[in-house]
Amino acid sequence: MQKEVINLLQNKMELIQLNDSNNLCLVGPVRLPVQLDDKVITFQWYTWLPVEKNQTKKDLLEMLPALKLADYQQSSVLVYGDFKEADDALIRMHSICHTGDIFGSKRCDCGFQLREAMKMIVENGSGALFYIANHEGRGIGLFSKSLAYLLQQEGLDTVEANNALDFPDDLRSYEEPIKVLQFLREKQVKLITNNPKKLEALQALGVTAKENVPIWGDISEYNENYLKTKVQKSGHIPVNEKIVII
Ligand SMILES: [Zn+2]
Repeated sequence: MQKEVINLLQNKMELIQLNDSNNLCLVGPVRLPVQLDDKVITFQWYTWLPVEKNQTKKDLLEMLPALKLADYQQSSVLVYGDFKEADDALIRMHSICHTGDIFGSKRCDCGFQLREAMKMIVENGSGALFYIANHEGRGIGLFSKSLAYLLQQEGLDTVEANNALDFPDDLRSYEEPIKVLQFLREKQVKLITNNPKKLEALQALGVTAKENVPIWGDISEYNENYLKTKVQKSGHIPVNEKIVII
């Protein structure tokens, strides 16, 4: 790699301490114009990669072709407005959902929540949407999720299906996005979620989040049971009467 290229890119990279043995290499911001309904909104986009503690930014750039990064997914964050300084900022920790986000599957509400959270952040004037790559199927991976879906077609709910495959209900870790969040903003945030446990978990990991902002919608015959399970078994707040449990 040419020296000029390395110099230019190194200035757009930050090493953030993740734990005793790893850093996160955060890259950005990249200007990302996004079509949201009838408007084009420009977000600042960052990606990150866990690296070993002794690796420099230059090492990382020089070893890129050998890393085969397309073989696994990286997480990223869309930032809007003056995220560092604004008094009021909304954040969303969005777990990747191949079927919901990409295909528009109605078996869950992820695709709807992704777009809705982006709109809420823009409307708020400042915020960040974290798109977390290793969270597919609550952390069981896409292949296992398809197996869980087959079990759900036989009548098991989301939690039962994951358990039947010998996975715990929820394997998701928020350690990496939280480190990135704390690097991008030190002030308090509000978390877009229906899950008070998620808010508590983030608070326990050091995020200064004061409240959760609910996000419901796109309830249909295809995802009604999925949403009911979220309320019954995962502690989500039932804010829509269609999914109130009797
Ligand atoms: Zn989904």
